[in-house]
Amino acid sequence: MRLVFLGPPGSGKGTGAALVSKRLGVPHLSTGDVLREEIRAGTELGLRVKGIVGGGGLVPDEIVNRMVFDRIGDAEAGFILDGYPRNVTQARDLDLFLGERALTAVVHLEVPDEEVERRLAGRLVCEGCGRIFNAGHFPPGTSPEACLECGGRLCHREDDSPEKVRRRLQLYHHETKPLLDYYSGRLVEVDGVGSIEQVAEGIMRSLSQ
Ligand code: AMP
Repeated sequence: MRLVFLGPPGSGKGTGAALVSKRLGVPHLSTGDVLREEIRAGTELGLRVKGIVGGGGLVPDEIVNRMVFDRIGDAEAGFILDGYPRNVTQARDLDLFLGERALTAVVHLEVPDEEVERRLAGRLVCEGCGRIFNAGHFPPGTSPEACLECGGRLCHREDDSPEKVRRRLQLYHHETKPLLDYYSGRLVEVDGVGSIEQVAEGIMRSLSQ
C-alpha cells in the first residue's frame, strides 16, 4: 500500500498515520520527524534547516525530495507519507519518481483552522519517545509534564507558537491545499474532528471502500 496523508498542521496526520501503519504493517515516514531528528542530532542538514523548521517555513523541495526518495526507494512493503508532499512541485516529483508504482490513495483529513489553532496551542511532544499529547486531554490527577508512556519530558514544539501556527496555516492554504485538485480522483475524504479512535476508524473505513 502506498499512501499519502494530507491535511493542515495539527489535523492528526501523524497520529492517524502511526495507527494505520501499526494496523496494516506499512512503514510510516514523517518528513517533519526526520527533519527534527536531523536538527536534534546537529547534522549538516539539521543545521541548514533549523531556522526554516523552527520558523514554520517550508524546507526547499530538493532537500525533502531526496530525504523521501532515499527512504522509499525500494520499499517493498509500501509506505505512508505524512507531511509530504506539501506543494504541487513535490507531488509531481513524487509521481515521476514512483512511475508505475502509483499511489494507492491520498487520505485527506479535514479540520477547520480554529480547531487547528486550539489543538496546537495545547500540543505537547515527549522528548524521549516522540508521543504526542494534548494538555487539555490529560487524565485528571496526572501531570502534563511527564510522558504517560515513557516518563520523558513533555515540551511544546517551537513552531507551535500562535504566530508560527498562523504562518503554517497560511502556507497550508497557499501551497498544500492545491494538492486537493492535483489528487482529485485519488482522494479519500476523512473528517478529522473527533477523538483519535473515531478519526482512526474513519480512516480505516474509507481505506477499505
Ligand atoms: P510537520 O511535522 O509535518 O508539521 O513538519 C514540521 C516542519 O518541517 C514544517 O513546518 C516544515 O518546516 C518542515 N517540513 C516537513 N515536511 C516538509 C515538506 N514536505 N516540505 C517542506 N518542508 C517540510
